[in-house]
Amino acid sequence: MVDKYKLARKTRVDKKIAVEEKKKTDTEKQDNIREMVVKKQLLARYSMADWAPKTVLGKKVKSGEIKSLDEILAKGLKILEPQIIDFFLELTEKVVDTKKTSYVRMSGRRYSFRATVLIGDKRGYLGLGTEKDPDKLTAIAKAAKKARLNVIKVNHGCGAWECNCGTPHSIPYKVNGKCGGVKVELKPAPKGTGLVVAKAIKEVFNLCNINDVWGRGFGSTGTTLNFVKATIDALSKTNRW
Ligand SMILES: [Zn+2]
Repeated sequence: MVDKYKLARKTRVDKKIAVEEKKKTDTEKQDNIREMVVKKQLLARYSMADWAPKTVLGKKVKSGEIKSLDEILAKGLKILEPQIIDFFLELTEKVVDTKKTSYVRMSGRRYSFRATVLIGDKRGYLGLGTEKDPDKLTAIAKAAKKARLNVIKVNHGCGAWECNCGTPHSIPYKVNGKCGGVKVELKPAPKGTGLVVAKAIKEVFNLCNINDVWGRGFGSTGTTLNFVKATIDALSKTNRW
């Protein structure tokens, strides 16, 4: 009888040790996954300090041959390295929208994230980028990288006849934009009006330093992403002269 009890106790202790060891390996696995994610984020981000330009445009920018971003945009040259934008501008980033998407494989459902990031320098440059990745933070980092490649310039002015002050606090004239099922109309407003636009697109005007504007949205403005894209489409038409 005594032997039986001893045996049972021994097996119980063995089981406890096995469970603890399994817990340890699990935490190690999680640590490994966390390390992988951090490495991925670092790859998605980049450092300006050790930037070695690969394109002709990048080499010209770093050597000082091209002195401003306007020069590049006026010539219509394609920007392939995000560091070029960081070289000229001090940017602030804003995550506009994230969404969990899914697709089906033999083994079951897989999930990934779609992130959209808006960048601006609070003077007149704007950019929007969308990217996907299984990890949410990596998707945001990738989108911020892509937003730099789609930079546009917004022209300021005072197009309101009520105001006629001549300072650049609004847009120069009425513009229209469109994306998918959303249409946007923006009108210049007199000084002190503020942003009379929908809440979803207020951040766009804050990031390019427009203080007074009247705006109207038509169509399915519930889709935030298309609403923001339509607004940027409208603002890109302010520099068409
Ligand atoms: Zn004015």
